Amino acid sequence: MLLRCNGRMPRRRNAAGRTIGCPDPDHIALPMPDTLATADELGMRLALDQALNAQLAGEVPVGAVILQHTAQGPQVLATGYNRPITTHDPTAHAEIVALRHAAQLLQNYRLPDCTLYVTLEPCAMCAMALLHARLKRVVFAAADPKTGAAGSVLDLFADPRLNHHTTLVGGVLAEPAAALLRQFFAERRAQQRIERAERVEHVERVERGEHVERADRGALRAAAPPSPDQATIPVGETTEWHAPASPDPQHREPQ
Ligand SMILES: [Zn+2]
Repeated sequence: MLLRCNGRMPRRRNAAGRTIGCPDPDHIALPMPDTLATADELGMRLALDQALNAQLAGEVPVGAVILQHTAQGPQVLATGYNRPITTHDPTAHAEIVALRHAAQLLQNYRLPDCTLYVTLEPCAMCAMALLHARLKRVVFAAADPKTGAAGSVLDLFADPRLNHHTTLVGGVLAEPAAALLRQFFAERRAQQRIERAERVEHVERVERGEHVERADRGALRAAAPPSPDQATIPVGETTEWHAPASPDPQHREPQ
């Protein structure tokens, strides 16, 4: 169970003798998990919540959260969700958004005591940013066979020519993360089919010489195929998702 602090939960010991609560009203204190696997699932559930925020904003549903390891246990330091479309920013992937918030909060461009959880395998841009930040661990859920840079298309975390300070874990809660992506793309395809049918219907009406009302002409323009620079999924972003070869969590220490 997650315990939200909100400044009204002073640090105290719970029934199990663990210290919970947090003096910082912006932090969410997590009960100390019994195992690392449990901790990773707790972190990934928070990232999945962020992915839902992306979905609500009409973005590809990918979410991230950064937990800082403190003497009181892991604390939520920053969150982020995918929003390149809404912010007109091709770098606004969930990991980058969360990284920027965390670095600003700590006033440090390196985050060695932190773990980042993200619901989709990082792309090359995000993987390099995570390596630059010297994160302690990176945990992702679903693999991305099209742009994944943590083992799918390439593996920047394992390249011996780069500095390695980051432990990589993949496949944690992969199925719920993948289900969210599958649902998103299925809805997109259904919407595209509707728009295609509307375009055909309007063209047929024009060809038959039917009078097209002003409102209908507006609908016709709205249903016109988007130009390449109006694509709703940014270039380089995942456009589909397929099941990873191995859904089991994969742990790998830095080399
Ligand atoms: Zn990325």
